[in-house]
Amino acid sequence: MHVSKSMILFVLLSAFLVTPLPADEGMWPMSEIHTLDLAKRGLAIQPQEIYNPGQTSLVDGICKLGGCTGSFVSADGLILTNHHCAFRAVQSASSAEHDYLTDGFHAAARREEIPAKGYTLRITESYRDVSAEVLSVVTADMDPAARTKAIERRTKELIAAAEQEYPGKRAEIAEMFLGKTYVLFLYTYLRDVRLVYVPPLAVGNFGGEEDNWMWPRHTGDFSFMRAYVAPDGSPADYAADNVPYQPRKVLAVNPQGVAPGDFVFLFGYPGRTYRHRTAAYLEFESRVRMPFVVDWYGWQIDTMERLGAADRVAAIKLAARSKGLSNTWKNYRGKLKGIGEVNLLARRRRAERQLQEYIAAEPDRQAGYGDVLPEMEQIYREITATAPRELTLQYLVETPTLLGIAFQVNEAVLERQKPDLERRSEYMDRNFPQTRQRLELNLQNVVPAADRAILTEILNRAARLQDDQRIPAVDRLLSGGDAPQAIADFLDGAYARTRLTDPAYALALLRESPTTLPEQDDPFLTLAAALYPHYQAQRETEKRRKGQLDNLYSRLLDIKQAFEGTDFIPDANGTLRLTYGHIKGYSPRDGVTYRPLTTLRGVMEKETGEEPFIVPPRLRELYEGRDFGRYASAAQDSVPVAMLYDADTTGGNSGSPVFDARGRLVGVNFDRAWEATINDYAWDAAYSRSIAVDIRYVLWFLEKYAGATHLLQEMNVAPEPE
Ligand code: ASP
Repeated sequence: MHVSKSMILFVLLSAFLVTPLPADEGMWPMSEIHTLDLAKRGLAIQPQEIYNPGQTSLVDGICKLGGCTGSFVSADGLILTNHHCAFRAVQSASSAEHDYLTDGFHAAARREEIPAKGYTLRITESYRDVSAEVLSVVTADMDPAARTKAIERRTKELIAAAEQEYPGKRAEIAEMFLGKTYVLFLYTYLRDVRLVYVPPLAVGNFGGEEDNWMWPRHTGDFSFMRAYVAPDGSPADYAADNVPYQPRKVLAVNPQGVAPGDFVFLFGYPGRTYRHRTAAYLEFESRVRMPFVVDWYGWQIDTMERLGAADRVAAIKLAARSKGLSNTWKNYRGKLKGIGEVNLLARRRRAERQLQEYIAAEPDRQAGYGDVLPEMEQIYREITATAPRELTLQYLVETPTLLGIAFQVNEAVLERQKPDLERRSEYMDRNFPQTRQRLELNLQNVVPAADRAILTEILNRAARLQDDQRIPAVDRLLSGGDAPQAIADFLDGAYARTRLTDPAYALALLRESPTTLPEQDDPFLTLAAALYPHYQAQRETEKRRKGQLDNLYSRLLDIKQAFEGTDFIPDANGTLRLTYGHIKGYSPRDGVTYRPLTTLRGVMEKETGEEPFIVPPRLRELYEGRDFGRYASAAQDSVPVAMLYDADTTGGNSGSPVFDARGRLVGVNFDRAWEATINDYAWDAAYSRSIAVDIRYVLWFLEKYAGATHLLQEMNVAPEPE
């Protein structure tokens, strides 16, 4: 073949054009999207089609579903999200007779859809910067705790005013840069969410904790739910005659999926990142807090597993809790390993030394900012010194369910006496119904043997604290004797006498007053009341520290921005963000390269016949019969299952739609690779990879395995002609 010069030029040019630009860090708030040149990155539609304030665009097709993200994929409020995001709802609907957890759930008709108890859904309507209004209550000479309280109070006032101005909407204020910028978000808030389709556990959680946070991945981590509203279209609690919610935007799915190198972008509600925190903070996290949590959660997971192994009903009740703990446990282990491997502490220390030199080089800068890093160092030193007691007290109050409920009841009764705006947020009128419901759901899942084991262990840990870390209410319980015996004696009596296991009784207590509640003479209520002042004092300390740190972080950011000559993107904080990247593998270690797409073949390769690598027989049959329909990727000769890309995500992006260059849904984000667990502190193009379930697996599974063709039709994906 004759090759002309112009052909060579064409080949060179197109090679240049298809070479993706280097990946970018960033969970971009909507207010910043206009600064991005997305076409240059690979977007093939107009930016206004994905985000256009005041008009309908792709972003209107996504929602925040509990702590996850979801996509509206039909005009009747059908939501695509992760299996693990629906897990709690599936668990609370399950029993030994209807084990939806193991078998999955499939509502063949709308009336069979099950309420997802405790689930709420938010759709971002608008946002507005309220930094000036929030900070107007702060004065330079204010003491730090007063600063935190003034901001909290002002925030509640602004929320109340916004909710009054927009009846039926829900307002929330998010701190974008610590102590510096605040944005008020207005949400449509739906309270009737139902389960529609959930694959069996063996598919939705294939690989379980062994594969969690890992690549290569073969988990069918998807599920379908549906949002409902009152017949007049207004948000309402569950009612049989509610009707499906009509979203402003329905997302289109692309049954052809993506290929390596393709541009992708995601919308979602990423939870928390800590990229602007100091080395001292990272040191506290990695040397004190995370090791404490790894140890405590690990102990609980083992205990629950042991108890669940002998009792299926107990196992179902403990399932969601145990899954949540395991997820964090493994994530923290990934982080601890990663922080060491990339030398994060030393790197951040070095960067801070350079910053300090820059500050010191100019007398004005030294006067304005010289104290910032040393003062922060001092605060984290204080936090480290008091951590054994503070962490133990926190987990003593939060982990055991019955004591936790007693604590909440006690606090609710005290807080509900105050004017609404002065209460802690969970006891304010706008939030109290959810608080009650959470309490009720927690009670449903009490397994007394597990609860007692956990409380025994944490009390014994409290009893072993050093002299300068003691918790007086625990000491009174021990009354100087042999601690393990005193604890066992107390708990014998407490579990025999308490009536808190009765939900009707526990909920009725919320109507008591601070004078009548003690008359109940319940051992857990009495212990909770004794712990309450310690916990309150700890919260006061935290408010003081937050006041100090917010002020320091705000100044740190100013000087860092001047030093580095760049603008920063705010850390994730549970608000709506955009991120983008490309379908791309990576090298986790020398000599190893990961490819970015996995297939059904890998599911079969991993099968052991034992948890968590069980392959349902029908799935194997379909595989062996090569019944891939139109979902097989030609390049791989199998159905793609999961994909890897270098977008910037964190927890909360679970369930986020992954869009192709034309804005069609090609995957559902559910995890990150092992090395990317440290994204939360430091993102890096070399190792930051997120994982999604491929839409082709979702559609193939619905069509061939589940026979849920009505869902395909609802999503406007016509099933393959016979
Ligand atoms: N699997 C994760 C989670 O649900 C998602 C992530 O953190 O990347 O927490």
